[in-house]
Amino acid sequence: MDAVMIIDDASRIRYLNHAMQALTGYAGGELLGEPLEGLLPDHLSEKHRDYVVRYIKGSAPSTVLGRVREFAIRHRNGEMVPIELKAFDLGAKEGERYFGAFMLDLRPRRAMEEKNAHLMAQLEQQALCDALTGLPNRRAFEAEAVQVMARAARLHGAVTVGVADVDHFKSINDRYGHAAGDTVLREVGQALRNAARLTDAVARLGGEEFGLLLPHATPEQAAQVAERLRAAVAALHVETEDGRSIKVTISIGLAELAPGNVLDGALSHADKALYRAKHGGRNRVEVAAE
Ligand code: GH3
Ligand code: MG
Ligand code: MG
Repeated sequence: MDAVMIIDDASRIRYLNHAMQALTGYAGGELLGEPLEGLLPDHLSEKHRDYVVRYIKGSAPSTVLGRVREFAIRHRNGEMVPIELKAFDLGAKEGERYFGAFMLDLRPRRAMEEKNAHLMAQLEQQALCDALTGLPNRRAFEAEAVQVMARAARLHGAVTVGVADVDHFKSINDRYGHAAGDTVLREVGQALRNAARLTDAVARLGGEEFGLLLPHATPEQAAQVAERLRAAVAALHVETEDGRSIKVTISIGLAELAPGNVLDGALSHADKALYRAKHGGRNRVEVAAE
């Protein structure tokens, strides 16, 4: 696998194997006896011979020999190929000094690293994203809440959390089918996102429940935002695949997320307010008592 090459003290190539020919694109005979400098990057090719001379004279230690280093080597087609290089002082034989090197083409490794980085980014994205609606999921919502609370504490601002739950969603599933139910969830999610302010977080907490995080808003101000969200959903006409139109409403419970409070506590207060909204007739917004 490794490309192997030996040069002499005048930096002339004296030996190369097949892998080295493959790495550089040259046939063996084309490189034998040629100066190594032709294969080096421009910034090295002028200095290399000097490095060798000074090393042999003992006036400058080598920073390359005996180590694993990353370099690039010039392919016949002009491309600079990234390589891992292990170079050795082979000592003298019959009055000539030799240096050897093993080289590994780093492109497959680089390509793999790039692919892995891409996969990691994708996984991270998936771990925080609800697959059905494309909204942030509960985990992302919790992470966002931590940040929003920290910011609010610095600015002495208020934060309100909300839980929005689709009304009679079970009946929608029963009547129009699960796939239509999924479409409703997607469109409700989109309507909430579009009607919310840019700084508000809208997430899918699970099932037919959405979480709202409204910074810079007391529960009363948040109630106005929530009222807008409620109205936006109520105005939806969700089309089924067979051309029927589904009407959908949500109920919203709001609670203040005071500094020092934990998100779960505030969410359970919002849940109680939601419960009141459901019992008050649904398609409405309720704010938790202090
Ligand atoms: P309420 O007005 O009191 O909220 O009534 P509801 O029918 O909305 O509430 P319930 O909790 O009884 O029903 C929720 C339903 O949501 C039951 C469950 O099958 C359905 N559901 C949960 N997740 C999904 C989903 O991802 N897709 C679809 N299509 N349905 C889902
Ligand atoms: Mg529910
Ligand atoms: Mg429901």
